[in-house]
Amino acid sequence: MSSILDLPTGQAEKKLDKEDEILDSSLRPKNWADYVGQEKIKENLKIIITAAKQRNQSPDHLLFYGNSGLGKTTLAHLVALEMGKKIRMTSGPAIERAGDLAAILTNLQEGDVLFLDEIHRMHKTIEEYIYPAMEDYKLNLILGKGPMARTMELQLPHFTIIGATTRPGLLSAPLRNRFGGTFQLNFYKPEDIEKIIERSARLLKVHIHPEAINIIAKRSRFTPRVANRLLKRVRDFAQVKNQGVVTREITEHALGSLEVDHMGLEPGDIKILLALIEKFDGGPVGLQSLAAAAMEEEDTLLDMYEPYLMQCGFIERTPKGRVASKMAYEHLGIKYSKVNNLI
Ligand code: ADP
Repeated sequence: MSSILDLPTGQAEKKLDKEDEILDSSLRPKNWADYVGQEKIKENLKIIITAAKQRNQSPDHLLFYGNSGLGKTTLAHLVALEMGKKIRMTSGPAIERAGDLAAILTNLQEGDVLFLDEIHRMHKTIEEYIYPAMEDYKLNLILGKGPMARTMELQLPHFTIIGATTRPGLLSAPLRNRFGGTFQLNFYKPEDIEKIIERSARLLKVHIHPEAINIIAKRSRFTPRVANRLLKRVRDFAQVKNQGVVTREITEHALGSLEVDHMGLEPGDIKILLALIEKFDGGPVGLQSLAAAAMEEEDTLLDMYEPYLMQCGFIERTPKGRVASKMAYEHLGIKYSKVNNLI
């Protein structure tokens, strides 16, 4: 274990630097009514929070998992809001040392929410410190080194950790077991994505036609963050070419220029499907080989591309590896000639 005294207590707060993240926070729903879909999760969370409030306690630690952009961070904000408490944002990989964790935890107020994004990437050494903090609100720190080392126990305020991950399978069992509630966020229905686009257009003061909303929704990969990103791109085109009015024609033109096809596939997705079909005859092929052929990181393939390609039915994971479906060939306009097709 590392010692706290010889380590800087670096601020491990999450940095909001990407354009997407700025857009996220400006369009993030600030109340339950604006948080579209995921009804069952909302219902369960409201019960957990109400019960905790009645007992005058912090709710159990909560784990949200699901693809990027499906609304995990937004939900965490709503939980804090409902509890009337503050939320502190950080992420698993940002907490590098026990000192970072101590700085964050000792700065919490009674009842606060600590949002831990990408919790599956938390350092193993930090996990050891976080268990007693989650269970007994205690932090055991080691001061000094060697024979002079002493342990110090810090009593922490009560707080709720909300962990978020795209890869729940990578969490160690002891960490997973310390969450009292685990919720899976799913892809959204097209009509819910339409509602989200409508609301975002209102907030961004974009004049948009209903057919344009429908087209953007269909190409949004069933994901709110993608819907908002596409809306913003289309708005740029409308501003330059159509006095700001988002019509069907301008939307199709914009999305065509951005190479987002009618199912929401982008050049990155096409590259993966083409690699699978052209280099491996449609598979089966292992993740490593496919990632290498498509020149992508394995994690990127797993987190960013594969969930949606599988949702569309273009790729299937079989015990022997990834396989391209007949639909994938058809989508790319490639002749499908496999006799013993696996899917
Ligand atoms: P995640 O944490 O899962 O990556 P976020 O919570 O950051 O996703 O969501 C990305 C953006 O998508 C948010 O800023 C918000 O504008 C929008 N969003 C996500 N979920 C919803 C929802 N259920 N209703 C409306 N907008 C949503």
